[in-house]
Amino acid sequence: MPTTAIHASRILTPDDEITDGVILVEGTRIVGLGHRDEMRLPADCTDFVATGMTVVPGFVDVHIHGAGGHDVMEGDASALDRITSTVARHGTTSMVATTVTAPIEETCRSLQGIASYIRAQEKADPDHLAAEILGVHLEGPFISKARRGVHPTDSLARPSVETFGKFIEAADHLVKIVTVAPELPGALDLIAAAVAAKIVAAIGHTDADYGQARAAIHAGARHAVHMYNAMRPFEHRDPGVVGAILTDPEVTAEVIADLVHVAGPAIQVLMGTKGFDTVLLVSDGIAATGMPDGNYRLGNFEVSVKDGVARNSEGKLAGSTLTMDRALRNVVSIGVPLQDAVRMATVLPARRLGVAGKKGIIAIGADADLVALTSDLRVAGVMTRGAGLQNS
Ligand SMILES: [Zn+2]
Repeated sequence: MPTTAIHASRILTPDDEITDGVILVEGTRIVGLGHRDEMRLPADCTDFVATGMTVVPGFVDVHIHGAGGHDVMEGDASALDRITSTVARHGTTSMVATTVTAPIEETCRSLQGIASYIRAQEKADPDHLAAEILGVHLEGPFISKARRGVHPTDSLARPSVETFGKFIEAADHLVKIVTVAPELPGALDLIAAAVAAKIVAAIGHTDADYGQARAAIHAGARHAVHMYNAMRPFEHRDPGVVGAILTDPEVTAEVIADLVHVAGPAIQVLMGTKGFDTVLLVSDGIAATGMPDGNYRLGNFEVSVKDGVARNSEGKLAGSTLTMDRALRNVVSIGVPLQDAVRMATVLPARRLGVAGKKGIIAIGADADLVALTSDLRVAGVMTRGAGLQNS
């Protein structure tokens, strides 16, 4: 099998740093890693030289609705191809396709389409640069009317283990994350069902008070969806769901670091309180990601995008056009050290999904998902499961 040798001034694995490092790739996997003096290179290998660059694991986005003009709810292969190839150019090599609240039957149809796409990915063209869809994130319908954001009211539903089961079946058991508002009747049973099915139960779109949020965590919820957004706000005599998340080190929290959804100091509060091991960068990207301003669909409603900010007809923020590379630059710009910022976009989300040995890490045996970053953190090259990074 031909080998590619990637030579980089710096490699962030991301838990360790290797200067003047080499990564060997064969097929879809990483087969060698180390300082250049320690590495024996095969005579016939192809080289990719990333002098002056930092090579990091490909980004893992656990909350993304679409990109390149398409939404995952379309569920067909050409839409999903467009999404996965658009985000790959921004360094996202794995993603969890995130649904938006819609009628149950419609959601099931989307899930079936996404599941068949996921099952077919292994047979896809090995030279094609595309993010791998690892599974589905059900963001809705089990969310709060008061904190629904732009999710359509008429399709919201009470948490139901039966409906959840329907979604799991339709998604061919590829549901990875389910968002639930803890204060709704049936929420704790739904969380227990998710835990039993090894699905991440996530707190989100919620008006929960502190006690209700604690009960959800006690029942097994371990993740929080777009921290601060669509949540009852923190108040010093009523710390609410935000207070419960900030004070529990077992719960990971997503943050949309476009500096529009959440102000920089609020991200600093989040990281300062929870520590650097529990905050994950997500895009919450919609169809408009990687596209000019204009009108786009999110699920089955319209959003308009101006100066890259997406809003619905009432002016509410409707997802983002953020890409993971920009999220990384943004958190570095507010003082997060690069290695921590990279961990927030790679190994931490991979751990939350239970795929830490394979994704979000540069290690022997892991998938060859890599991003070469320039000194100003622009994406200079991407490799997705061994494809890409060869034309230099
Ligand atoms: Zn949301």
